[in-house]
This record gives sequence, structure tokens and C-alpha cells, in this order.
Amino acid sequence: MYDVLIVGGGPAGLSAAMLLGRCMRKVALFDSGEYRNSYSHAMNGFITRDGTPPQEFLRLGREDLEKYEVEFKHKRIVKLAKEGELFRACDEEDQVYLSRKVLLATGLKDRWPQLPGAEPFYGTSIHHCPYCDGFESRNKPLAAYGKNRDAIGLSLSLKTWSSDVMLFTDGTHRLTREDRELLGRNKVQINTAAIERLEGEEGHLQRIVLRNGHVEHRQALFFSTGSDQHSDLARQLQCDFTSKGVVRTYKHQQTNVPGLYVAGDAARDMQLVIVAAAEGTKAAVAINMELQKEFRL
Ligand SMILES: Cc1cc2nc3c(=O)[nH]c(=O)nc-3n(C[C@H](O)[C@H](O)[C@H](O)COP(=O)(O)OP(=O)(O)OC[C@H]3O[C@@H](n4cnc5c(N)ncnc54)[C@H](O)[C@@H]3O)c2cc1C
Repeated sequence: MYDVLIVGGGPAGLSAAMLLGRCMRKVALFDSGEYRNSYSHAMNGFITRDGTPPQEFLRLGREDLEKYEVEFKHKRIVKLAKEGELFRACDEEDQVYLSRKVLLATGLKDRWPQLPGAEPFYGTSIHHCPYCDGFESRNKPLAAYGKNRDAIGLSLSLKTWSSDVMLFTDGTHRLTREDRELLGRNKVQINTAAIERLEGEEGHLQRIVLRNGHVEHRQALFFSTGSDQHSDLARQLQCDFTSKGVVRTYKHQQTNVPGLYVAGDAARDMQLVIVAAAEGTKAAVAINMELQKEFRL
């Protein structure tokens, strides 16, 4: 029997595990090793760790855990249920683990744009988050890509980092007159032509070739194509979700299911490493306080 099972060993799960380890709780941390930013070469915007390769950051996180009694298990949890006051988790080999509390830190999966030729540019000059990679692309001709309405907001946001922004809707024509006026006032160029392929060299995007024969010279592309929950464990436990597809959390990362917490990208709030780590810590403190109360005489 564990005090806490943590599912997900990214920044949120690791940071929760450290705090719970420091509280001498019996913790098992499960990780299937599919980190959201594994495509990326540098993790930016984390004070003291700005520019660290994501894999190195995670390695340092696991190293920090070595002095605590946290069991790190390279396993995927496939089933999660609540039986009375306890949680019952099951891995892919049908091994069962029981715990008093569960923290889900399972993250999100991005829907990468399926553009011919894009693969070599992912993480180098194709990104999804301007806060993570906008600075490195500053003052360059930028492309905002997306077929949904979020792409409008993305293109306007990119104006913070470059005056030269072009919105590509890739053959879709959903922009209203108001959208066009808004983009026009903010000097965002609009390109609705379907994209044939992307071209460039050594990971650096240079050209967007359109099916109508035109070529646009762009040095970085930011996309808004949505994301999905990495695991369905929160759904198995009937958690509430927001309209954005993330778990609705309350004070200190609690969910509507007593004893179940969700931290990091899987929960609502900003999707940044430092926020995920902070949420993991908040959840860990709240979990420890709940356990303290339950064991108090
Ligand atoms: C390309 C890219 C670049 C980014 N760059 C930056 C950046 O520069 N700076 C920044 O602050 N943020 C950046 N981000 C965002 C950042 O990656 C996320 O905010 C952060 O990883 C969220 O941490 P997390 O712990 O919630 O989830 P994740 O890091 O996604 O970790 C979740 C973990 O849970 C595991 N898991 C999922 N389901 C299960 C299961 N059923 N059983 C066991 N394990 C499971 C996964 O394998 C994964 O290891 C970037 C994102 C992307 C996609």
C-alpha cells in the first residue's frame, strides 16, 4: 500500500515526488517516458535552467529524487479506479498498486501539423508556444499556422516577437470580415492558399511552397492545431473537464474526485514547465496535509 501514486514523470510529477519524498511518504512514480517537449532542443523560460535540453532537465530531476524513498517505475498505468477510500491502479502487465491518494501528471499530446516536409523543422524552427520559442525567433519573418480560430490569436500574439507575421490557413476560408479587419489593423498578413510543402536546410525553415505555385519566405512557423490528454485515466475516474479538454482543478490542484489531484499540462492553466513544476509542488503539499489530517488522533 502506497500513500501516493504519481502517474507521469515530467516536471509536474517529478516536482511532486520530491516534495512528497521530503515528507517521507511512501510514493511510487510511474512514467511511460513520452515527454511532451521531447522534440525540443532547449527548455526556455525556467529561471536557472533557461536553455537546458529537456531530457537533461528530466535527468537532473530524477537525480534529485535519488536521496528520497520514491520508487521510480518505467511503467504505464492503464487502469485507475477508486474502491472505497483507496485507489487501485493497474500497469500494462496487470500488476496492481493500491494507494490513499493519486496525482495525475500525465500531460498532453500535441496534434502536430501534418505538413509535407515539416519533420526536420520540429523543435528547431517549428514550434507551438511563442513564450517558449518566440525570443529565439525574434524579428524574423514568422508564419502562424492553423485552420481553427485559435490561429487568429496566435498570429496576433506573434506580433510581440516580430513585425512580419503571416497567418496561413492552409486552404480553409473561415475568417470573417471582422477577423480580416482585426488582422489588417494589426498588420498580420493573411494567406489562405493550401500548403504544398515546407523547405529549408539543417532544421531551419526557409520557404513555404503553396499549391498555387507561390512561395513565401518564412524562417519559423508557430502552429495552433490543438492537443489531447496523454492518458484517459482522469476520464476513467470521471473527472470534470473544461471545454478546452483539460481537467478542471480546484484549490491546490484538487479535482472533483476526493483524493485525486491533477497537475501540469493535463490540468487547466498555463502550459509551461515552471508552472507544471509549481503545480506538482502545490498538489504535493495539499496531499501531505490531507494525509496528516487523516492520520491525526
Ligand atoms: C515542442 C515543445 C516545446 C516546449 N518548450 C517549452 C519551453 O521551452 N519552456 C517551457 O516552459 N515549456 C515548454 N513546453 C511545454 C512543456 O513541455 C510542458 O508545459 C511540460 O512538459 C508539462 O509538464 P507535465 O509534467 O505536465 O507533462 P509532460 O512533460 O508531458 O510529462 C507527462 C509524463 O507523463 C507520462 N505519462 C502519460 N500517461 C502515462 C501513463 N498512463 N502512465 C505512466 N506515465 C504516463 C508521459 O510519458 C510523460 O513522461 C514545450 C512543449 C512542446 C510540445
